[in-house]
Amino acid sequence: MKKRILVVDDDSMNLARTKIILGKEYDVLLAESGLEALAKLKMEKADMVLLDIDMPEMNGIETFNRIKALDASLPVIFLTASGLEEDVVCAIKMGAVDYLKKPYRPQELLKRVAQEFEKR
Ligand SMILES: [Mg+2]
Repeated sequence: MKKRILVVDDDSMNLARTKIILGKEYDVLLAESGLEALAKLKMEKADMVLLDIDMPEMNGIETFNRIKALDASLPVIFLTASGLEEDVVCAIKMGAVDYLKKPYRPQELLKRVAQEFEKR
């Protein structure tokens, strides 16, 4: 069975692009906000979350904390724009497994996701 990845980003263009990249190998769920992500995770199983940090209302850090409260073992890779290194440091300390800087190259995204699944 294909692994399922939930991608969370308020940028709908990046969501669409990421789905195209991951869609050949993985089952991809999309959410445009932290709240939508949490609602989806309560209804459907996911094997990994790709999570934008900079989002209005509930940002990625708060979303991350709430995801971990639901399922502490679910791997989360942060998606970040450059210039937000402090957020990334904070996220890694809190237990995020990795991060990717946007815009990422398709090969890089696929490689990082595959590496994370191999560890499990
Ligand atoms: Mg954003």
